Amino acid sequence: MQGDIQRVLITRRQIARRVRQLADQIAQQYRHRPEGLVIVSILSGAIIFLADLIRHLPMRMKIGLVAVSNYPGPTTAPRGPRLVRQLQPEIRGRDVLVVDDILDTGGTLRLVLAELQKLQPASLRVCVLLRKPSKAPADITADFVGFDIEDVFVVGYGLDYDDHYRNWPDIAVLRPELYAAARNPRAAATDRA
Ligand code: 5GP
Ligand code: MG
Repeated sequence: MQGDIQRVLITRRQIARRVRQLADQIAQQYRHRPEGLVIVSILSGAIIFLADLIRHLPMRMKIGLVAVSNYPGPTTAPRGPRLVRQLQPEIRGRDVLVVDDILDTGGTLRLVLAELQKLQPASLRVCVLLRKPSKAPADITADFVGFDIEDVFVVGYGLDYDDHYRNWPDIAVLRPELYAAARNPRAAATDRA
């Protein structure tokens, strides 16, 4: 696996440090809310970030998980994101924090936020580990952001390429020849959310 990596963008130490800072900011934001939070996280890319973040949050919380497919069914053409699975505690009247791996084009978060808003939470905020500012749309903002990164495709710390590399502890860029398959539209049909 190490041989597949071209360069490390963010090291595991930098990530650990920043995750603790994000948790401090979040704890501060909700310090007067004794009922705590409902965290809704998006599978599968956010799982490692979620696991690290919540262990630095000394507050009451319930955790929900949703899955989003960008390429539903046996198709090669993306049809826009669609919610495919929901496992969620009561949202109505609660402070809800959506935790995701990365804000890229914003399609995923736009969908999830719209669905959650229908359930009438008391508040709805977003925490992402990564953001690509060059692409992030104006209508989707994140309240807590770990790192702004350049517009490159990254793997590691939960983020995958073709479902691999999620377990790599750093955030890294793969050797370019490994992405060749992504330029092939059939391979690009694989859901990489
Ligand atoms: P969106 O474009 O909807 O903001 O992002 C959709 C999803 O695509 C993200 O939640 C993430 O799972 C995936 N994604 C976006 N950019 C990257 C990237 O650089 N690397 C990886 N592995 N996944 C990405
Ligand atoms: Mg994702």
